Amino acid sequence: MEAQNRLLIILGAGESGVGAAILGRKMGWRVFVSESGSIKSSNLKELKKAQIDFESGGHDLKRIMAADLIIKSPGIAESSALMQSIRDRQIKVISEIEFAGYYSRAKHICITGSNGKTTTALWCFHILKKAGLKVGLAGNIGQSFAKQIATKNHDIYVLELSSFQLDDMYQFKADIAILTNITPDHLDRYNYQMSAYVDAKFRIIQNQTKADYFIFNQDDLCVAQKLNSIHPKALLIPFSLKTANENGGYANEEQLYININKQKLTMSIHELALKGKHNTQNALAAGIAARLVEIRTEIVRESLQDFVNVEHRMEFVAKVNGIEFINDSKATNVNSAWFALESMDKPTIWIVGGVDKGNDYSELEQLVVQKVKAIVCLGTENAKIISAFKDKVEVIVEANSANQAVAYAYELARKDETVLLSPACASFDLFSSYEDRGQQFKQAVRML
Ligand code: ADP
Repeated sequence: MEAQNRLLIILGAGESGVGAAILGRKMGWRVFVSESGSIKSSNLKELKKAQIDFESGGHDLKRIMAADLIIKSPGIAESSALMQSIRDRQIKVISEIEFAGYYSRAKHICITGSNGKTTTALWCFHILKKAGLKVGLAGNIGQSFAKQIATKNHDIYVLELSSFQLDDMYQFKADIAILTNITPDHLDRYNYQMSAYVDAKFRIIQNQTKADYFIFNQDDLCVAQKLNSIHPKALLIPFSLKTANENGGYANEEQLYININKQKLTMSIHELALKGKHNTQNALAAGIAARLVEIRTEIVRESLQDFVNVEHRMEFVAKVNGIEFINDSKATNVNSAWFALESMDKPTIWIVGGVDKGNDYSELEQLVVQKVKAIVCLGTENAKIISAFKDKVEVIVEANSANQAVAYAYELARKDETVLLSPACASFDLFSSYEDRGQQFKQAVRML
């Protein structure tokens, strides 16, 4: 996109906003960053160093309305007064990823889905890195994509994209797109319309040509249904835990298979670095993407074995008197908690609760009956959880801090049982974030 000294306004001075400002300036835009809150000191330093004009603590509407192009942080809601005025003026609004895409000549592997994005992105990045590629990691994780385009020279990027980021993407193209799954989440941002959320996720394949690839979860009904009604141009590469695929990935209870370009990779699922069916799906998706960029099967296999996941996702914390504690604080919706419970192979004390996002707990009933011995509610409003499970488990108690929850769980658990924090809810009632919730949980376990 031609800059020619035109005015680029960036809304939000977080990681992505600052990155976009640095790239914009390098490409010849007049850049102004507007932040309604306060700016983190490290970001402030970067803006000053790059001599970028900015404001904080409010928006200068007059200045913003003069923009030729606006980049908005994915955190700013479409319904805000500011966005309404911008839309009324019909100023073009894009995401930081779209903007960086204008100037990127690298290959893009893009990952979206309701759950498993971060794990799949990190796993894929790990394989490519191990294979020696010049690879960057961006999107919802790591450093801003725009900043890396401005300052690095990677040949390939692994990008984790939320539906909010996809909402403001138009020309950007994924050479390889991955859709992990679609289950209800963030519906509040899509007028409670599932179809709008599904459409947002499917923007991951917009602009793809027949030279590109679309890796998708064949077992996901929502994805399969949508695929029946559209005709993607890209080559479709399914993965499944139910159906073997000639070109794609499949895993059963024992083996994992990735067949790409007539080359076969076979390994035992017991050798995978991460356990649970959901992680087998993530491994399939990441492994297929790596094979599509021609990473040798041997390296893919090794990397599927030696990957180390990030915090708060089915993270083993400690074993205390034979009781295992697992931190899955990142499970902020019902579907991710489903996979956590599904992967439990010992009687489980389940710590659940927080801010309900319109949860339907009936999907968990069967698993709870099978696997859960007692429930510890960790939230300010627990009535919905209690009424959903009161006839399914013998003991339900309520806690109002991580310390209390861990103490109750420890009391209820016996040797060779598991305490699982997998809340199925957001964290903002008692904690500042899911990371804070996970940290406090781990801290409490370590104090036992
Ligand atoms: P995201 O980036 O999409 O939020 P993460 O990889 O951070 O996903 O995982 C979030 C939560 O979802 C964790 O609790 C994790 O155990 C669970 N999870 C990971 N992969 C999947 C998957 N493929 N399907 C369902 N749940 C998953």
